[in-house]
Amino acid sequence: MNKSFVILFAILFICIVIGIFYYFIFARETTETIQLGSGSKNMVQHGVDFSDGKSVDVIDYQGHYLLVSSLRVGESHPPHATGPGCPEKHWHAESAVTAVNDGTVHSDPLSGGCGFGTLAERPVMMYFPNELLAE
Ligand SMILES: [Zn+2]
Repeated sequence: MNKSFVILFAILFICIVIGIFYYFIFARETTETIQLGSGSKNMVQHGVDFSDGKSVDVIDYQGHYLLVSSLRVGESHPPHATGPGCPEKHWHAESAVTAVNDGTVHSDPLSGGCGFGTLAERPVMMYFPNELLAE
């Protein structure tokens, strides 16, 4: 057999092996980057840990999503000395609440009235990071 042909074939073979080797390294790195990206999306957001993939219950208060667990439901009450009262069940907060989507802090806007609004106005929603779903 022609000696130069054998050398040429060997070089070609080595190039293919190196090519396959680099292809697999590149493919694996790309996959790892994607997994890292989607993982960081589900991490802690404004004090709430989403890394287990679960949603949290929130109400939409003027585009700020407030955790239901930080709120309490007030029964309807008539007007009284400290406020106008509220004719329906409504949302109150004992202390300031941090919105899970934007980190803004909100105190009860009307502690003697309907607070953050009635349950009918602001129903409980399911919130995933960057996603809000009706419950
Ligand atoms: Zn009230």
